[in-house]
Amino acid sequence: MIELRKKEYEIKHNYFCVHNYPNYNHMSDSIVLLDSIREISMCAEVAEKDDRKIIIAFDATELDNWEMCKFRWHMFHQRHIRGKHQESYFEKGTVLHYFMELYYKAKLNKETIDQAKLEEIVERGRIKSLDYDLTTEEVAETIFQFREYHRFYEDENIIPLYVEEPFTVEIYSDQKIQVLIAGQPDLIFKYSGSSDIIVMDHKRMSRNTDYSPLRNQFNLYATALKTDTVIVNKIGFQKTLKPKDRFLRTPFVYNPESLDEWKQEAVREAKEMILYNDGSKGFPKNRTSCEKWNGCYLQRYCATRPSGREFLIGSEYLVGTPWDIGKGLE
Ligand code: SF4
Repeated sequence: MIELRKKEYEIKHNYFCVHNYPNYNHMSDSIVLLDSIREISMCAEVAEKDDRKIIIAFDATELDNWEMCKFRWHMFHQRHIRGKHQESYFEKGTVLHYFMELYYKAKLNKETIDQAKLEEIVERGRIKSLDYDLTTEEVAETIFQFREYHRFYEDENIIPLYVEEPFTVEIYSDQKIQVLIAGQPDLIFKYSGSSDIIVMDHKRMSRNTDYSPLRNQFNLYATALKTDTVIVNKIGFQKTLKPKDRFLRTPFVYNPESLDEWKQEAVREAKEMILYNDGSKGFPKNRTSCEKWNGCYLQRYCATRPSGREFLIGSEYLVGTPWDIGKGLE
């Protein structure tokens, strides 16, 4: 049986401090949200002195960024620096995820997906798309692919259990620290006739991409939700392919030994994150990662002479909102 904890508090920042941190007595008596690096390092100091515990929580994107390049992690998760022109890809994915969320929530509520329901979802999705900087063609393309997806999987025997349900799950605790992993899977379901819990992750694809079972996201989901199966639900937007060649589902099956290895490595990374968090150790650049994942969005920043870099913020980069797992959809 999975233990899926409702989101008890919003994860806006990387670190939490428990047990009545003096300046925050007005807040929760047991959990405190920390708002800045300074507060976090103060919290660490207090924790050190008073034997209080530091809680570190992260999702798969943050762990990916941390492992990829500590400087990138610092810029993205601590300074919230975003590329000015990098939103479109994410926004297209976000709108598609919204359609999928409405679709599977309707199934979760045992509503029949007839033509009227489909049109209602399309209309709500269309209205939602106005929140994003998408062209009319991009919205129309998303609606087209959503209709195609429904037609293709109309008879699937999926029974949704949770849709876009956020969780935090403890994976480690000692006297000093507690490590929580967080996530918001697109869909948790079972097949009719089976009691096995399966996680599904929707991916908007403009070309077919092979995903690795080693991915932090999939290991994190399997670990947190105590399931052995994660399915990548590829929703291809390739115009030249037939539905059967662009709507593809790739299952990854995990064993306890491999998941335990992932967990140990994640805890080790978490402990290191705490050491780096206050900036006293600097944030080293991993120059072997700059060209990965279609090229790091910070290449222009890092390639500029150090004294000139901050001038790029405002022109080529902007300070965005803190990372929110609910918005970071691929
Ligand atoms: S460009 Fe390279 S060094 Fe700079 S943040 Fe990205 S990965 Fe790190």
